[in-house]
Amino acid sequence: MNELFWQNQQWRQTEMKKDPQIFKRLASKQNPRYLWIGCADSRVPPETICGLPPGSLFVTRNIANVVNNIDVSLVSVVQYAVMVLKVEHIVICGHYNCGGVAAALELTDHSAPLENWLRSIRDVYRLHSVELDRIKDKNSKWRRLVELNVVEQAVNIYKTRFVQARRVETYQRRSEFAFIQPRIHPVVYDPATGELKPLDVEMHDVLQKLRPIYNLYKATDDDDELLFEGMGASSMVPFEDDDFDDLDDDIGDNIGNVTVRSL
Ligand SMILES: [Zn+2]
Repeated sequence: MNELFWQNQQWRQTEMKKDPQIFKRLASKQNPRYLWIGCADSRVPPETICGLPPGSLFVTRNIANVVNNIDVSLVSVVQYAVMVLKVEHIVICGHYNCGGVAAALELTDHSAPLENWLRSIRDVYRLHSVELDRIKDKNSKWRRLVELNVVEQAVNIYKTRFVQARRVETYQRRSEFAFIQPRIHPVVYDPATGELKPLDVEMHDVLQKLRPIYNLYKATDDDDELLFEGMGASSMVPFEDDDFDDLDDDIGDNIGNVTVRSL
């Protein structure tokens, strides 16, 4: 245990050498731009893998980065991050070699409460069973379920009322914001390489079918309603009706590759 205190002193001195005012500044307030939802796995420490100092990320972690609507801890974190801290981005980070996802691939009772928790990952498998059942290689199936779990948890974030309300609010006050917030980023980390990468998934396509079921808020501007509802795109590009088919291209031109993936 002394290791922790000794290491803390070393780290403290290093940080103060880099930025003598860091702790004085952090004592008064926090102003993070990101909410990070990640796995509790010890190999995936968010600030370390992103090379960011304290104060950069508002963080919640659990086994296999699950966004569960009745997890009071997680939902409270999202509420505070979005409504009070007003984070600009929400990162949902999964990782390859995730033990939680591997456990959900086993037909084994891991006993309560762990097995209850893992069941929501089994549900992700069920939603994508057509694709996953085709993958015969065990490791490839594991990696793909890690990715699909991140996508489904990103969808769960879009479903939350705070996130939808804030996105509509920032759209309606768009002269004050560069993009609709919070923008949601499904990403995956590879402990074998140390690389963090955006998932190759178009959230626009994923959300399209879900809007009639989960969308709670609509922007008042009827012309833009389809694009800027609570589960809509983050781009502020002014679209004409004719441009709707070119949505992805237009977003790509304006806000870059990562943003297209994240909306
Ligand atoms: Zn994990």
